[in-house]
Amino acid sequence: MPHRRLDGPVVIATHNAGKLREMRELLAPFGVEATSAGEKGLPVPDETGHMFSENAAIKAHAAAKATGLPAIADDSGICVLALDGAPGLFSADWSVNRDFGPAMERVKRELDVREATDTTAWFVCALVVAWPDGHQELFEGRCPGAIVWPPRGGAGFGYDPIFLPDGESRTFGEMTAEEKHGIDWSDPRSGLSHRARAFRKLAAAILGPRREG
Ligand code: IMP
Repeated sequence: MPHRRLDGPVVIATHNAGKLREMRELLAPFGVEATSAGEKGLPVPDETGHMFSENAAIKAHAAAKATGLPAIADDSGICVLALDGAPGLFSADWSVNRDFGPAMERVKRELDVREATDTTAWFVCALVVAWPDGHQELFEGRCPGAIVWPPRGGAGFGYDPIFLPDGESRTFGEMTAEEKHGIDWSDPRSGLSHRARAFRKLAAAILGPRREG
């Protein structure tokens, strides 16, 4: 089935300030007008899926139905090999009152308990765009890397200070937003973060031409 183009305003179906900022930055060059579920006062739907893509779909369809506008949702998380992929889908749940200091400490503690020497980890991002009539488009991105300790850098959000992407010397927490996205629009293979990699696929499939950047 051909992709459906996204050519009007969208709702970004998130209440997470870090994700919202990054999605806005990624959408900006395409001139897409974006409000957010948080700004529109929409309720936070229960994330009852068993996969990132299912939870992204739940959030996107809920926002599309509530607003009558196409909605874009991100479900993402960090997976640690030695923790059998945890925290994964439960990445947000490991925080304490949205403080990710304790969540990062828990990753470190659980690695120590297992006496793990392999620090392989990866971020995953599923982006779903849903329309009020129920149509949806799914794009996924993954960023391979490793857990470092202690946390490094105060930029970004969530687990950024303990994630060192493969081939880089700085954690996501030590990068500017642009460096974390890693997108050079003249190079179709560019894109560093899981979100940027998913977004590049989305942009190529359903967005119109860039207007700036
Ligand atoms: P959810 O998708 O709303 O379930 O939340 C995913 C959680 O994964 C976020 O609250 C962050 O803690 C974490 N996460 C997702 N993407 C990133 C990222 O780019 N950097 C750091 N943490 C992230």
